[in-house]
Amino acid sequence: MIFYRIDLSPKLGDYSLDNLILSYSDLYYVEVRLFKNVSTAKILKLFAMLKNHCLVYVDIIIDAFQVDEGVIDEICLIIPYSYQEVKKIKIFSCQENKISYEHLTEIELSVARIDGCKSCGEINESNFRINYDSHFVAKNFNSCLYNKVSIDHEGYIKNCPSMKENFGHIEQNSLSETIENKEFQVLGKINKNDILVCQDCEYRLICTDCRAYVQDPADIKSKPLKCGYNPYEGEWNDWKTDKTMQSVLEHYKLNSLNKT
Ligand code: SF4
Ligand code: SF4
Repeated sequence: MIFYRIDLSPKLGDYSLDNLILSYSDLYYVEVRLFKNVSTAKILKLFAMLKNHCLVYVDIIIDAFQVDEGVIDEICLIIPYSYQEVKKIKIFSCQENKISYEHLTEIELSVARIDGCKSCGEINESNFRINYDSHFVAKNFNSCLYNKVSIDHEGYIKNCPSMKENFGHIEQNSLSETIENKEFQVLGKINKNDILVCQDCEYRLICTDCRAYVQDPADIKSKPLKCGYNPYEGEWNDWKTDKTMQSVLEHYKLNSLNKT
């Protein structure tokens, strides 16, 4: 089972997309993040390539501030009818919160603002997952990074696009060789029992995780920074305004999220 992410960017030429998708035939999940404007033709070409692989689940995340309204409309009208693997299209920076369906695809509009990859990793009750597969993964592996490989907007291969460390570049390295790399696999093996605070939390087996933003950047097994839950008190607080975490927010350059 492979989870796979790609950030579309003008810096990734068509040849890179072809190489990426064609060189890996065992895709299970793809998340396509549209944080920059892109033509409908390019999107459709990407999905035509994806369709030839054994994908079962595709999500599309769009920042409506960055992508033309006409392109978004076309994506929502064409893709659900052409690519049944697309289960969800989530559009941020909208005028209203709304969930609707086009064919079998859920289209969620959200007023929430995002700041590219910096907005990923927030943990709250709405992203808890209760099903056998995610329970199995959370018990044994990392609930975000297990079997996931990401390509950032410049083509660097990483555990996740928000991380600094890379394991090569798509023009020089194959995804298969990266996935076999023992160092690459380290984060995917950190489960909630290894993580401070989370190991005592009642939500640990239904919660997702984040290793890109942690409360102590020097300790990769510290609690996710973007979780405001205190399992010892049973209370949720706003992690963005936690005074004890302001220097960590600064470390990750996340202070701008306070304004969104
Ligand atoms: S590690 Fe954090 S930032 Fe990276 S994909 Fe997972 S939740 Fe998002
Ligand atoms: S403390 Fe850990 S397990 Fe509990 S909700 Fe927060 S991130 Fe999830």
